[in-house]
Amino acid sequence: PQLANQIAAGEVVERPASVVKELVENSLDAGASRIDIEIEKGGSKLIRIRDNGSGIPKDELALALARHATSKVHSLEDLEAILSFGFRGEALASISSVSRLTLTSRTAEQSEAWQAYAEGSEMAVKVIPAAHPRGSSIDVVDLFFNTPARRRFLKSDKTEFTHIDEWLKRIALVRADIHFTLSHNGKLVRQYRPANSDNQYLQRLAQVSGKPFADQAIKVDCLHDGLHLTGYLQHPHSQQAVDCHYFYVNGRLVRDRLVNHAVRQAFAPHGEAEQPGYVLMLSLDPHQVDVNVHPAKHEVRFHQARYVHDFILQVLQSALAQLQE
Ligand code: ADP
Ligand code: MG
Repeated sequence: PQLANQIAAGEVVERPASVVKELVENSLDAGASRIDIEIEKGGSKLIRIRDNGSGIPKDELALALARHATSKVHSLEDLEAILSFGFRGEALASISSVSRLTLTSRTAEQSEAWQAYAEGSEMAVKVIPAAHPRGSSIDVVDLFFNTPARRRFLKSDKTEFTHIDEWLKRIALVRADIHFTLSHNGKLVRQYRPANSDNQYLQRLAQVSGKPFADQAIKVDCLHDGLHLTGYLQHPHSQQAVDCHYFYVNGRLVRDRLVNHAVRQAFAPHGEAEQPGYVLMLSLDPHQVDVNVHPAKHEVRFHQARYVHDFILQVLQSALAQLQE
């Protein structure tokens, strides 16, 4: 099983940031409201994710490390309308096959915590008692220690950490309800406090994109016929170019030509050479969109593409038109 897991790991686990992604998405799926991320040496020494989510019952710990053990998809129907991030059931097994992984967890019902780790070439899972508050901690130590080719492929600690930081930014903007911390080599680097109001959200936006965008951001919020677009646009007269272009569909970041086109067209009359910043979230019936064409490519396909395009365009145009009044 270790070899099969290592092969699967090649697809899921490219670098420390992909480990962080898989683990944080699990914490979000588990309903955590606080997620702490500790990194050492760009993630090659340690990636530790702590959450206050539901926890994993003792008798499911071993299963969580086994391949294709997902608790999240029960039928094909589920697959089609998938809203939870994880559904492949192989992230933990894959990561565990290319690192020294320990999983420590306590559910609300259990009075004590348990820790699981896989050992030996057969990756037999051991479960021992541990101390932990409600929720889970996953420690990933010495990533790729047993796959030297992959380990050599890692860039500098700084570069690998930057990938983690960038990934967290885009999650922080769409999960403003979650308290995130990120530390590197024992030093706290990011602290995103939960944002429950527009003002608090703008503070988070300023942390991610800088003040030039956040200080003059234009709010967007329009619900029409099953399509809901919310978020912020950078003021078209703001001189500062910002590297902040995020569009989410049902909570997932997408890079989509149709979406880009609509956003560009909305800004076009303002004559911007640089694309102004934006953070936009579109929600719609999950049956109206195919996501996850490839998990890493952020592509989507809208069933009513033209309609979605025109909706985005019109909402943004009218938000920008109000500035002229
Ligand atoms: P998937 O997320 O695709 O189901 P994973 O390998 O990422 O597969 O996780 C396996 C299972 O372990 C999950 O289905 C879930 O039941 C459990 N799990 C993993 N991480 C956590 C967590 N932080 N909190 C609660 N349960 C978790
Ligand atoms: Mg998962």
